[in-house]
Amino acid sequence: MKYYSTRDRSTSVSFSAAALNGLASDGGLFIPQEIPQFSPSVRSSLGTMNFIELAFETIRPYVHEDIPDSVLGDMVESAFNFPAPLVPVDDRFVLELFHGPTAAFKDFGARFMARSFAYLRRNEDRELHILVATSGDTGGAVADGFFGVEGIAVTVLYPKGRVSPLQERQIAGLGGNVSAIAVEGSFDDCQRLVKSAFVHPELSRRLNLSSANSINISRLVPQSVYYVAASALAKSGRYSQDGKATPRMRGTGEGQRAVRDGRLGKDVLFCVPSGNFGNLTAGLYAQAMGAPIAGFIAATNINKTVPEYLASGVYQPRPSVATISNAMDVGAPSNFERMTAHWSYEELRKNIHGFWVDDGKTKETIARVFDTSGYVLDPHGAVGWTAVDQWLSAKEDPVHPFAGFSGPVAVLGTAHPAKFAETVEPLVGPVPVPPSLAEAMGRTVQSVTIRADVEALVETLLTLRS
Ligand SMILES: *Cc1c(COP(=O)(O)O)cnc(C)c1O
Repeated sequence: MKYYSTRDRSTSVSFSAAALNGLASDGGLFIPQEIPQFSPSVRSSLGTMNFIELAFETIRPYVHEDIPDSVLGDMVESAFNFPAPLVPVDDRFVLELFHGPTAAFKDFGARFMARSFAYLRRNEDRELHILVATSGDTGGAVADGFFGVEGIAVTVLYPKGRVSPLQERQIAGLGGNVSAIAVEGSFDDCQRLVKSAFVHPELSRRLNLSSANSINISRLVPQSVYYVAASALAKSGRYSQDGKATPRMRGTGEGQRAVRDGRLGKDVLFCVPSGNFGNLTAGLYAQAMGAPIAGFIAATNINKTVPEYLASGVYQPRPSVATISNAMDVGAPSNFERMTAHWSYEELRKNIHGFWVDDGKTKETIARVFDTSGYVLDPHGAVGWTAVDQWLSAKEDPVHPFAGFSGPVAVLGTAHPAKFAETVEPLVGPVPVPPSLAEAMGRTVQSVTIRADVEALVETLLTLRS
């Protein structure tokens, strides 16, 4: 598989170059020249493979020229050493993606990326410097994924005061090869600073810079795996009963259960709580590869750039607004360029239905779903849940994509509710904390604060790394 830049189809680079460089030299994002397809034999046996086998089959076509099969097999086995259960709740499913070390779905991408970088750079002497901007969860997952990896230093930029205390400890509490910079500004400022660092002449001369945001293709591809796995499970009429992470105290109603289970055996409609749209793009890749996916609901908070684009055809990025689902506070989604490089507006509009949800509705949903089913949603999953409710009330209107859809609906549970205890607990009471989060809470924050200014960043990076 070769990769080209979204801005120049004549570039042609290996997976290794695309992953290690992060961004193309023209500022574009790397995309595969074509999205691979599962062979008919793999496709017909998706429903019988386990998660690790599915991970291998999904990722292999993207990387096989650079990563031998035996190495890839070990990588997926050690990266994905936690479950991704498809859990029945009321009339739908929640695909719980928060059982990894930082309790957010970004562990899937970050853990695979760290392992692939370590392998791809096995013969390099010069230290690689990963620069990553985060609105909350990326930083923690990347820091955790790369912590202790030799030959690689990581610096995470996060918007000061706009991440939760736990997120800040996950980002800035590790030390070692991981440094943290608190930027006096928004996530968009952090992202802008990272982008300008990459094209800064002195920095690029002195540091061997790479990115780790969801723009990195090595983070995107592994995120396709759970879409393949969950859709294959539901298509073969099954789901997991073993999601234990959040309390489910009361049973769900018989009627709702029958509705939900009657939908199994068909292609799945996924609802994806979205910010930079890396997760949703990974879902589009999984669908294009041949996974049994009917389409997508794109759920955002008030940062509704993409739902508006899907409704109107006009793309109008804008500054981000702070919300309680802060990992989705993105006004100019970085993967939009990738989505539109692969698919036209017409194609996207038929395959993705966009909804946006404000903080008030998000809180109402957390309280209501807990009341009716005992299930605790985090604010991001709750945006997704609410978007499904909105879609259900609009869905019979024939102007909408998926009118009359009768298959299973799965909301992606992108973070554990204990990560957002300050929002969730006033609504539902105490939320049990998983051990990985309890450990992180005990760490001390060590970060440098800078103003949202490229020169301040350059100076800090050169001091940190000299
Ligand atoms: C990052 C994140 C999102 C948004 O994912 P994108 O790939 O940026 O669209 C949603 N929920 C949580 C909890 C996240 O950490």
